Amino acid sequence: MALRNIVLKGDEILRKRCREVEEVNDRIRMILDDMVETMRNQNGVGLAAPQVGIMRRMFVIEPEEGEVAELINPRIIEATGIQTGEEGCLSVPGYIGTVDRPEYIKVEALDRYGNKVIHEGEGIKAVALSHEIDHLEGVLYTDKATGVHEAEAAPEAE
Ligand SMILES: [Zn+2]
Repeated sequence: MALRNIVLKGDEILRKRCREVEEVNDRIRMILDDMVETMRNQNGVGLAAPQVGIMRRMFVIEPEEGEVAELINPRIIEATGIQTGEEGCLSVPGYIGTVDRPEYIKVEALDRYGNKVIHEGEGIKAVALSHEIDHLEGVLYTDKATGVHEAEAAPEAE
């Protein structure tokens, strides 16, 4: 496994729509392993493939310590309610802003072996799923946020 460099806001890579993963193979699994390592190294809650320069529809999240999920070709099948909270992004280091996200979200995706799986969650997990899916569309939280400002302590970032 290896740490990957994180692409920062201002780089066009973060503004492109990512393409589907066509085949879930060893290369994809290796990238996912690197992404988990990189996310943990940065104390992140999530990390999307374009944030490490890979223009494919996949991401990793760890909304609670030890609860890592890897999603490939995710598709939102349900999103209800609204929660408003502060969030940050590993591609926008040192800043936080206030964003409206679904309170509950249900996502269908492939796992690292190409099996169809359902992920659902509320709270921080719903925020992380929504934030990472936005990355795959070239959307950053700063596009939606109000009151983006420098964080005093290292924020939880995705
Ligand atoms: Zn992010």
